[in-house]
Amino acid sequence: MTRPYLANPKNTIEVLQKYEFVFQKRFGQNFLIDSHVLDKIIAAAQITKDDFVLEIGPGIGTMTQYLAFAAREVAAIEIDRSLIPILKDTLKEYENVTVIHQDILKTDIVKLVQEKNSGKPVKVVANLPYYITTPIIMGLFEKHVPIESITIMVQKEVADRMQVGPGTKEYGALSLAVQYYAEPEIVANVPPNCFMPRPKVGSAVIKLTRHRERPVDVEDEKLMFRIIRASFNQRRKTLANSLKNSSELSFTKQQIEEAIAFCGLPAAVRGEALTLQQFAQLSNYFSENT
Ligand code: SAM
Repeated sequence: MTRPYLANPKNTIEVLQKYEFVFQKRFGQNFLIDSHVLDKIIAAAQITKDDFVLEIGPGIGTMTQYLAFAAREVAAIEIDRSLIPILKDTLKEYENVTVIHQDILKTDIVKLVQEKNSGKPVKVVANLPYYITTPIIMGLFEKHVPIESITIMVQKEVADRMQVGPGTKEYGALSLAVQYYAEPEIVANVPPNCFMPRPKVGSAVIKLTRHRERPVDVEDEKLMFRIIRASFNQRRKTLANSLKNSSELSFTKQQIEEAIAFCGLPAAVRGEALTLQQFAQLSNYFSENT
């Protein structure tokens, strides 16, 4: 198998020119051109020859070559039709790669993992299209795709949001959702000059290692996430008012006040002050008492 060779400006430009490729802004296309960043991603993801890896958005195949080199098998899902013939060319020497021309948000990933890896946990590695970072991550978790870890390039600000706890302005529904399912760890900060074209924002690589056991016991996950969403929809309001005003919930004022008091929280507390444990406690109270 040829060593990965695309991760530099010269070879990337050569491929783009050969195929007269036109970047599509609407697909969030910023291709990696820095081999050090790719080495870091592969090391953080701890890929071995036992692993099946799912890549989202291979672009011209820069990261795919690294993954193919390190893993047993790779499936790469790409939405842009014009990249498919390019990938056929750049990945021709990598026999353990399957490129699938599809929208990741419409892909039955559980079925794919069943077919390709007998349903055993997979590693997801990607330089994500930033316009759909949250739906991709939430889709992987909520659809219960068997996953060991997700190592992804995202917008720096989004990586920070996944990692923080209460008391910071970045804390929100994404922080709680990610931390419910996984342990987040920022692995590297990546400046715009590592991409072609350069994004307007800073980027970071974050690794989400799935919890073996959930950190909290929740009777009704869906209810807890409805409560979390409602709490952060109106950040400046009290938790009681946010829950009362939510179209997704139908608790009475009295039920809400009782639940907040039961959890030992001040009546005027804001949702942004609650930990994951406190949201779980609140949700369990509603499950058992309403
Ligand atoms: N992995 C390549 C790299 O690092 O150079 C490209 C990364 S680029 C940030 C994101 C890639 O995701 C693009 O190739 C883009 O066409 C693809 N993409 C965007 N939306 C997608 C979707 N809904 N499903 C699958 N791929 C998508």
